[in-house]
Amino acid sequence: MRKHCRCGQKMNLGFRLVIFENKFQVDRVPILECDECDYYEVLPFVKADVIDLLEQLKQQGENVRVFFTDMNELADVLYDMIQQKEKSDSSSFEAVLEQKCNERINLLLDLYGCAQKMNDSSWMNVIAVRLAVLSKYVSNRQSLSAK
Ligand SMILES: [Zn+2]
Repeated sequence: MRKHCRCGQKMNLGFRLVIFENKFQVDRVPILECDECDYYEVLPFVKADVIDLLEQLKQQGENVRVFFTDMNELADVLYDMIQQKEKSDSSSFEAVLEQKCNERINLLLDLYGCAQKMNDSSWMNVIAVRLAVLSKYVSNRQSLSAK
């Protein structure tokens, strides 16, 4: 996670407004950035989701500005983590993130239960989409650490 920049400096997690083709603005995209040389890149494990979102925006064809954290639950969990400035000295960043993801999953499952009780299928669908992103990340992580 704590990748090193090509200049050798450690890269930090941050968020930034990314503008594609001078038209589509996606704010709060998780990135790794280098203080030394201003180089940055989109966080590898959300990159595919950012590209998907961009495709959707292109199809809509309008000049829009969206928050990636509103569209992607994993980014939202990361954003919360950064806002709270939680120190992860004792455990690795990934371990803290995974724990936060599991907390969010439990919260969403509770919500899902409410939606189910109310027979609100559109709400259930929205929650299912939010859950899927997190479950995918957590299960990828677990299969990696099992190896
Ligand atoms: Zn650098």
